[in-house]
Formats: sequence, C-alpha cells, structure tokens
Amino acid sequence: MLAVEKVHTLITARPQADQFRLAALHRYHILDTPACEDFSFLTELAAKVCEVPYAFISLVDAERVWIKSCTGMQIGELPRGESYCSLAVLGDAVTEIADLTEDPRTAYMALTVGEPYMRMYSSVALASSDGHAIGTLCVMNTQPGRLSAEQRTTLAKLARQVMALIELRANERSLNAAVRELELLATTDELTGLHNRRSLQDRLKFEVARSRRFRSPLSALMIDLDHFKQINDEYGHLVGDQVLANVGRLLRESLRVIDLPSRYGGEELCVVLPNTPVEGACKLADTLRLKIEAQLHTAGARQFQVTASIGVGTFNHMDINDADGLLQQADAALYRAKRSGRNRVECGAE
Ligand code: GH3
Ligand code: MG
Ligand code: MG
Repeated sequence: MLAVEKVHTLITARPQADQFRLAALHRYHILDTPACEDFSFLTELAAKVCEVPYAFISLVDAERVWIKSCTGMQIGELPRGESYCSLAVLGDAVTEIADLTEDPRTAYMALTVGEPYMRMYSSVALASSDGHAIGTLCVMNTQPGRLSAEQRTTLAKLARQVMALIELRANERSLNAAVRELELLATTDELTGLHNRRSLQDRLKFEVARSRRFRSPLSALMIDLDHFKQINDEYGHLVGDQVLANVGRLLRESLRVIDLPSRYGGEELCVVLPNTPVEGACKLADTLRLKIEAQLHTAGARQFQVTASIGVGTFNHMDINDADGLLQQADAALYRAKRSGRNRVECGAE
C-alpha cells in the first residue's frame, strides 16, 4: 500500500474507540458554537509561549476537524483527512512532528503542500473527563523544529485550561437548560398546558401597567365549563380531565401569541387579551364559545360535547385600577352568563 493510502486508511478507519470519543465530544455541545474571546486568548497565549505564528483549538468530529479558535490564520474547519490533529487524537497525548514534509502521514496534507506550507506541528490532546481525546491544542510553524521542554510543559498546562473552559461552558449550558425547564414547570398547568394561576397573576400585573402606560385597551375572558360536575358524574373524573386538556389545547391553538390563556382553577379558565377593546374581546369570546361547543370528546365508544359560559372584562382607566378589578368584572359578567342560561357570553359591567 502506498504511504498516502495508508495514512488515509489510518485516519478514516473508525475503531470502536472513536465512537466513544465522538460521544464524549458531542456531550460538550461545543461544535459550531460562536467565536469567543476566552478561547482566542488561550490560542494567542499558546502561539506566544511557543514562539510560533499558528495555534489552534481543534475538535475532531466524525468527518471534520472543527476549529474553535485559531491564531495566525482564519479557518473554520478541515476535512478529517487533511488535519494533523486527526492523527494526534488517535495517538499519544502529546504529538510532535518536527518536519511535516518528512512524515509520510502528513507530507501530502493540504496545509503542508500548499499555503502556508507548514513544517512543524506540536499538540497536546484535550482530554474529556472520561479520558477521551476530543481534540487538541496545537501550535504550528512554517519552519521545521521542536518545542523546548519548557514550552511543551506550558502547552500542556494551557490545554488543561482549554478543557476547563469547555467543561465550564457545558455546565453553564445544562444549568441554563435546567433553569428554563424549572421556569416552565413553575408557570405551566400540567393538565392543560396553559399558564397556571400564579403565572397569570404575575403577567397580568405587567399587562395592566403596560396598558396604563400606553393607554391601550386590555381585556380578560373568564371561561367556566357548564355542568361540569355532570360530566364527571356520568363519565368519570379521568374523562373530565381529558375534556379540560382538550379545551386547553383548543385555547392554545385559537389565540394569538401575545394572548395569555391560563387555568384559573378547577374548570375555570382565564384569557388575558392585551391591546384588545371590549368589542374585539366579546367577538373572540363568542368564537371560542362556538369552538368549545363544537369540540368532540370521547368516553370509550361514546362521543359528547361540552359548552362554556364566558364573562368579558375590559380595563378602563376610569373605573378599573388594577388586575383584581379587571378579573372581578369578568367574573361578574360570567355570573350573569350562568344566570341567563349558560352557553353564552356576557360583556362588561352591568
Ligand atoms: P356550572 O359551572 O354550569 O354552574 O356547573 P358546574 O357543575 O360546572 O359547576 P361547579 O363549579 O359547581 O363544579 C365544577 C366541577 O368541576 C366540580 C369539580 O368536580 C370539577 N372539577 C374541577 N376541577 C377539575 C379537574 O381538574 N378535573 C376534573 N375531572 N374535574 C374538575
Ligand atoms: Mg362549571
Ligand atoms: Mg366552576
């Protein structure tokens, strides 16, 4: 086999260990992340300490070597077969090639035979917490040569700093994801997927302040399912839960993104409608009432429908000052809708 072919086989062969190595790399979620000064600082320092023009932080992916940071040239990624680092992650923790043109594994690589005609390569592997070489911190020169022992020791220390930074970024990322998930759990009603009551109250305060500040209309719908006790009695509590979940989904699918549908409690739902005057709110309430009435629910082989009564409240600077006043008005209108026979919409103060 020709030397070049041998190198190609070495790099493209996928020993099973490479799968574990790749899994370790992907767990850090660092590939394709934007450039970052902290990493640039470490490559600049590596080049300076080693007295060479080029330094890279390279991560060796399945088919490519992705460059997190580089000093001396602008390069985003290289095919795996064209990167010295591909060899480094398969070999020893420290790899040094004094003359790239004399090593059959690197003599024909693009950076050796073309611009900038690299001659020297020295790298330290970036080792994951479970011991896999996910990439390298490497330095390169267009002159052949070797690093001094002291330079090599410092490069190894810098590689540990690079890895510490990669670990830190991965931890920040999972912490942020956990915080987002907790926020979602704390503000969402599990059964309906709508905002829960606490979230509604937080957001409503903000909407009332905004409405006052910009003198924009703000409305709220209080929706209560009719004779829901009978649904539970006839079909069972689990079917009742399913009906609530269905109505919750219907609300989420029917509203604008700025609207705020929530489960106020039990089978009572509340929708806050920013920038919506009373006429618009009443029209929307009636559309929702008809959609709820048309929705089919199932209990075993049986299908049934439910209806809802809806009260509409609208923020008016003259007689409503706060969120409580808005909800009280919607609640009073809902009470009238119930009293007048259910499956209907009542708007505003009497
Ligand atoms: P109406 O509102 O038309 O006056 O009659 P209703 O039967 O719906 O009124 P009421 O408020 O007296 O009863 C509401 C019922 O809703 C009581 C309760 O068992 C049921 N309910 C409340 N929350 C849930 C829930 O999470 N799941 C189920 N399945 N039922 C619930
Ligand atoms: Mg009810
Ligand atoms: Mg009720």
